[in-house]
Amino acid sequence: MPGFELFGDAERKELNDVLENGVLMRYGFDGMRNGHWKAKELERELESRFGVKHAQLTSSGTTALNVALAVMGVGAGDEVIMPCFTFVASFESILASGATPVLVEIDDTLTLDPAAVEAAITPRTKVVMPVHMCGSMAELDTLKAICEKHDLLLLEDACQAFGGTYKGEMLGSIGDAGTFSFDFVKTITCGEGGAMLTNNSDYALWADQYSDHGHDHMGSDRGAETHPFLGYNFRISELHAAVGLGQISKMDHFISIQRRNHGIIKAALSEIPEVSFRRIPDPEGDSCGFLNFFMPTAELTNKVVDAFAEFGIDAYWNYYNNNWHYIRRWDHFKELKSLFPLSDHIKKGMERLKDQSFPQSDDLISRNISCLIKLSWTEEEVKDRASRMAAAIKSTL
Ligand SMILES: *Cc1c(COP(=O)(O)O)cnc(C)c1O
Repeated sequence: MPGFELFGDAERKELNDVLENGVLMRYGFDGMRNGHWKAKELERELESRFGVKHAQLTSSGTTALNVALAVMGVGAGDEVIMPCFTFVASFESILASGATPVLVEIDDTLTLDPAAVEAAITPRTKVVMPVHMCGSMAELDTLKAICEKHDLLLLEDACQAFGGTYKGEMLGSIGDAGTFSFDFVKTITCGEGGAMLTNNSDYALWADQYSDHGHDHMGSDRGAETHPFLGYNFRISELHAAVGLGQISKMDHFISIQRRNHGIIKAALSEIPEVSFRRIPDPEGDSCGFLNFFMPTAELTNKVVDAFAEFGIDAYWNYYNNNWHYIRRWDHFKELKSLFPLSDHIKKGMERLKDQSFPQSDDLISRNISCLIKLSWTEEEVKDRASRMAAAIKSTL
């Protein structure tokens, strides 16, 4: 990733179809569209590639989460369990639903620690939201069993693990619902866009309606449609969907490049005894969009970060000091800096964060380096990069 590295004729062709008829909206205007329904086509494509009954496109990965939580009936008074290492969209979407985000520790998979999830369950818990961070998956069997035991819903955020699998099933297709992002830096991009996958036909119908102002989408006169319930506008445009359609035709190619590049770098770093790797519950299913490794101490990790800069290595992060992905620097969230008043339930529920600590996650994240695996690198370039990375790490030991 990201998919924009290999933008080309396929995307241009799909886009031109839309530009030629001028119908930029995904619903209606049947007579003018010259048979082009790019959003619907991309939804069918996602359904067949991911082996699910329903895919609903949205305007972003964040709004896909909003829609998923809405169709799951999550709202005021509910709690959603999420990891403390993720992207800000996790708590944004939960807060937008009116529910309270409950943050828990990650384990050496860099995703939800199932034991921490179980310990955080209360009578108000409705959903467990694993986030398959940095290309690889959470312990889905264990999380599924926890959800079944406590009668909770499982919502997979697979935005960073597009194309990965778990025991032969596509990530994003395993929970009660799953979400993807097609923003500009994701494996498949359409500029801005997202999708929710589900096998639940009620969720699918409600998602289609909720994401378009609650329109029932019956008949051919949009103005005459009724509204079975309140909705919102989380629609994707035909222009965005067209780009996504061009990109997804290259999905298998993208994943195979990621796996090749990832393999070369991992092999080089594996020769250094001080380097260890994140645990991957199903190694065959790693989408390989990132390579994450640990150093024995935070101090050495900082030295490696400096050494990478010296050795000319780019595209890596230590998330401990990162504003986007780890609880430590989410001050606006911890202090609930909202433009508008939040409910007493959220305010009260969030008080626990004030003195909550995450020692296990702090240890893991402070020792972790996450390397982006790019699509545009040639095999020669990756080999050269891998040997420079290994030399940089060795220089700190
Ligand atoms: C990118 C991302 C999102 C949100 O996607 P947008 O399309 O940018 O709104 C959600 N979760 C994770 C883990 C992400 O990486």
